[in-house]
Amino acid sequence: MKNMIGFFLLIILLTFLSHSLLPEEGMWPISEIHKLDLQSKGLEIDLKEIYNPEGLSLIYAVVNVGATGSFVSPDGLILTNHHVAYGSVQAASTKEKDYIKHGFLARDRSEEIPAKGRTARITESYRDVSKEVLSVVKKRMSFVERTKAIEKKMKEIVKKTEQKNPGKRAEVAEMFPGKTYVLFIFTFLRDLRLVYVPPRSIGEFGGDVDNWMWPRHTGDFSFMRAYVAPDGSPAEYSPKNVPFHPKKYLKIASGGANEEDFVFMLGYPGRTYRHRTSHYLAFEEEIRMPFVVDWYGWQISVMQKMGEKDRGVALKHLSRIKGLSNTMKNYQGKLTGLKRLQLTAKRQEEEKALREFIGKDKERKAKYGDILERVGKIYEQIREQAEYELVLDYIRRSVNMIYFGYTVYEAAVELQKDDLERESAYMERNFPQTKRRLELTLRNYYEPTDKMIMKEILMRAANLPQKHRIPAVDDIVKGGKPEEAIDGFIEKAYAETELDELGVLIDSMTKSSQKLKEMNDPFLKLAKALYPTYQKLKETQEARKGALDELYALLIDVKKQFLKKDFIPDANRTLRLTFGRIRGYDPADAVYYNPITTLDGVIEKTTGVEPFDTPQKIFDLYKAKDFGRFMHPELKSVPVCILYNMDTTGGNSGSPVLNGRGELVGINFDRAWEATINDYAWSEKYSRSIAVDIRYVLWVTQKYGGVDFLLKEMNVFK
Ligand code: ASP
Repeated sequence: MKNMIGFFLLIILLTFLSHSLLPEEGMWPISEIHKLDLQSKGLEIDLKEIYNPEGLSLIYAVVNVGATGSFVSPDGLILTNHHVAYGSVQAASTKEKDYIKHGFLARDRSEEIPAKGRTARITESYRDVSKEVLSVVKKRMSFVERTKAIEKKMKEIVKKTEQKNPGKRAEVAEMFPGKTYVLFIFTFLRDLRLVYVPPRSIGEFGGDVDNWMWPRHTGDFSFMRAYVAPDGSPAEYSPKNVPFHPKKYLKIASGGANEEDFVFMLGYPGRTYRHRTSHYLAFEEEIRMPFVVDWYGWQISVMQKMGEKDRGVALKHLSRIKGLSNTMKNYQGKLTGLKRLQLTAKRQEEEKALREFIGKDKERKAKYGDILERVGKIYEQIREQAEYELVLDYIRRSVNMIYFGYTVYEAAVELQKDDLERESAYMERNFPQTKRRLELTLRNYYEPTDKMIMKEILMRAANLPQKHRIPAVDDIVKGGKPEEAIDGFIEKAYAETELDELGVLIDSMTKSSQKLKEMNDPFLKLAKALYPTYQKLKETQEARKGALDELYALLIDVKKQFLKKDFIPDANRTLRLTFGRIRGYDPADAVYYNPITTLDGVIEKTTGVEPFDTPQKIFDLYKAKDFGRFMHPELKSVPVCILYNMDTTGGNSGSPVLNGRGELVGINFDRAWEATINDYAWSEKYSRSIAVDIRYVLWVTQKYGGVDFLLKEMNVFK
């Protein structure tokens, strides 16, 4: 009997332990973290040290720099990923000064170079504004009216908040579509500079081959610094600016972390879609992702070919190739995962059970009975139009000259309107950035590539079925042979246009429609012809969003009743916390992966051929076993990357991985292949994310880069 009681007690204890140790799915909004009981999971500091509206807390050390980064010194030093800073490094590089290839080091602050167009946002506070936002929704509104009314209200709140808080940025984020809205206030810094960036052969070691893969050996880190005006206010770049002093910066745990250690992460995850229905998953799997994989793959091969013989040309394309390849491989991972896990079928099963639950109660049935069918109907319509919409979308997104022409044309239309009525890109607060984006795109513009991309996408448009014609494209073809007509149009248009000159392009952004007409530019004429088609598409998409938002809000309600649990909102680029443990996994039969890689693996993988080339100095240091204080005591080598079961997605790139004391042990930069599917469904079994170990960051910076002063600045040497 005694034994039995002991046995039961053991079971209870084990159950309790496994629950308290069990990592849970979730990118938790800061407003929800008090529900987590993080202490029982391994957090050693007070929750107030993570977020405290009345005092200093870790969230002030976390910064949105496109993806995420964190402050690591009192002088505004930011640690983020190599791939996050990549665009800025590329923009600063020339054939002669190739910072991608050789890396970049500012020996002192005067040598730091502007990371053009890059901004940093620090979350200062947040507040639920759902009531205020939804107060504009009236019973008889159409879905388009509803979407428009909500959008306008969000803009109004933002404007009001920014007027009340000069110098700050505000944003209303949709947490649960059609249901909850949160207002965030940010400190907004506009002068960021590059400080130290390792060469490609470290920062991008393994390249696209290793991207989204474990085991990993990439030193995906770089340092930037934020600057402000001498009076401490945020300002555009000026040589007179001074380093920004963050309210809080992270302490570095130069000893790193170990297998099974508790870790947590703060960051700005982009988008997840875990609350969507099977219709959405099927659409992604069968239509949208295969289209994008094909289209991106085609563009990548063109750009690679163009750059083969000229490094100057290659440099122009690098950043875009990297972005497209990253998405393409992510989608390939997702497509494999969807199939392997039969995710769509599984979701259909869940929906079947939900339907049964709804059907069991009369009132429930009346309220929720047809939600899934209605969502399904909308997806039927989306599928039917998909190819047309995708082609139309990429005409504007993939062809630089069309993007320029369209933006200029649209600016003239939008600038006529009141600020709050405008498309957000043309609102006063966003207009400077819209212009900067044009400028940066033009820097990398390469006419021969652009012409080829234009031809291909217009050919795809010309081949759309009769019911999905794009009038502007038909005008070009004029019933003749599409290829000849499109070739002819392209030759003439690129020869005549002046929008590829920076001065003309930027000047045109503030010209009236009349003045633009007088310019008689072929790409402005094309924009004008395309404009009504895009407007119509926008209306369609707004109507869909309105309808889907309402349905998804109901779906969440009834799912909560069914599963008897609360949900947290999908990722939406707002600040989130996730936690877990450094842990390996077994992705396939008879395979187990350890969660820590070392320098030995870098050496092992090195073939000398890009992307598996390694600087000689790393070899020398390795041979001499010059690991300094950064050697892992058991592995007897420098740890390079770590793997953990935290819940992350794109946007978490650069997020600080923190130990139980809130100290920096790594910088998140990727996920394992199986975890690309995270965006639809998380699982302890396969969801693993990857960080570069802080010990590798420090070792490379000190021993390879010889940049002792940065380690001093981060207080790594007392
Ligand atoms: N490497 C990823 C990205 O580029 C980060 C992630 O999605 O996990 O977005």
